[in-house]
Amino acid sequence: MECLKKSFETKQEAKERKEQIDKVNQLNKDNTRMRVYHCKKCGKYHLTSMSKKKFKSTQKITKEERDRRRISYLVNVESDYWLNKLGIE
Ligand SMILES: [Zn+2]
Repeated sequence: MECLKKSFETKQEAKERKEQIDKVNQLNKDNTRMRVYHCKKCGKYHLTSMSKKKFKSTQKITKEERDRRRISYLVNVESDYWLNKLGIE
């Protein structure tokens, strides 16, 4: 899944951009510092200015979401089972 948010292929790329932004903020006497984080949705890296604590609260998954994931996992496992059994690639 792709994110709409600006993403970086590597942590290094994200870090370089983070440092650029931090430098500009510093020049502007702005205490905001960016953080690099790995995105579970798209598998790439994004930047956030949110604190770790605040950021974590946005990442919490709901019970419904957990159930939905478990079900889709089971469906995948089951379909793999049948594909193997029937010899379908
Ligand atoms: Zn993402």
